[in-house]
Amino acid sequence: MNDPQLSVIIPVYNEQETLPALFARLYPALDALGVSYEVLFVNDGSRDRSAALLKDQFLARPDVTRVILFNANHGQHMAIMAGFEHCRGERVVTLDADLQNPPEEIGKLLAAMDQGHDYVGGIRETREDHWWRHVASRLMNRLRERITHIKMTDQGCMLRAYSRSIVKAIVATREVSTYIPALAYTFAAHPTEVVVTHAERAAGQSKYPLYKLIRLNFDLVTGFSLAPLQMFSLVGIGLSLASAAFVAYLAIRRLIVGPEAEGLFTLLGINFLLMGILLFGIGLLGEYVGRIYQQVRERPRFTIQAILEQRAEGD
Ligand code: UDP
Ligand code: MG
Repeated sequence: MNDPQLSVIIPVYNEQETLPALFARLYPALDALGVSYEVLFVNDGSRDRSAALLKDQFLARPDVTRVILFNANHGQHMAIMAGFEHCRGERVVTLDADLQNPPEEIGKLLAAMDQGHDYVGGIRETREDHWWRHVASRLMNRLRERITHIKMTDQGCMLRAYSRSIVKAIVATREVSTYIPALAYTFAAHPTEVVVTHAERAAGQSKYPLYKLIRLNFDLVTGFSLAPLQMFSLVGIGLSLASAAFVAYLAIRRLIVGPEAEGLFTLLGINFLLMGILLFGIGLLGEYVGRIYQQVRERPRFTIQAILEQRAEGD
């Protein structure tokens, strides 16, 4: 297992219901590929029995299994980051633990890499999630497409393959809150995408409630583009020009027609609109300042409690 051809990285957060089925399908699928491989599970601070199940699996297949145990929940992308730091494969594939990304599809990604691509993204053929997730992610996909330089047909699909050099570049960044598929895209020389099947979650619940999804999308947008801030200054310029014109009109009107006291609520309405835009702007600024704040503290990106792995010969 010293330098396998393939590393498969799987973040795990409270997945005790799905892990047995995952183990049962993943290993045969990887054996069928006919390449040397390692599976790297990262337990992202699960509060259920996931860690114990992962340990059992490590004991059952220590030759090809490694387990990183986090101290606490640091999020899916930090779990993958830890996997990237510790994997040894020439090619690296990421996969969800809930069997929504069928492990049998890994071969498709590797075939695209054989053709010289250094980064292969998945596109979910038919997406098996709640309808509101479809709508929200289509909107976000479109927004991201406009304001970042990142081209991804399906940003939410985590079944992806990365070459060793891209993984190295990602690990070398010091970003604390990031979106790995987008970061990888910025380092890729020949990215491509392939269509993969998608299944319903095998068991358990989605680990992404609405709030976490919104946070994730902020990471994606503010982490890769200044466009929101810049658009905001454009809106500001437009509004100041409009109000300057309005003030000039009122001044002239006052000289010609005389003072006016009507239209109070119109004015209030306009005022509230402006206040709303202002608050949104401050919040947006906060998103960027918050990222800077996290970055300057230079805390470790994640804290590892233990790593289960077989010692190499001679250690
Ligand atoms: N996950 C994680 N940490 C988190 C949230 C999720 O490691 O804080 C893992 C989770 O165990 C799964 C993958 O990330 O393997 C995707 O999560 P999920 O299937 O809940 O997301 P969805 O498919 O609903 O987008
Ligand atoms: Mg899922």
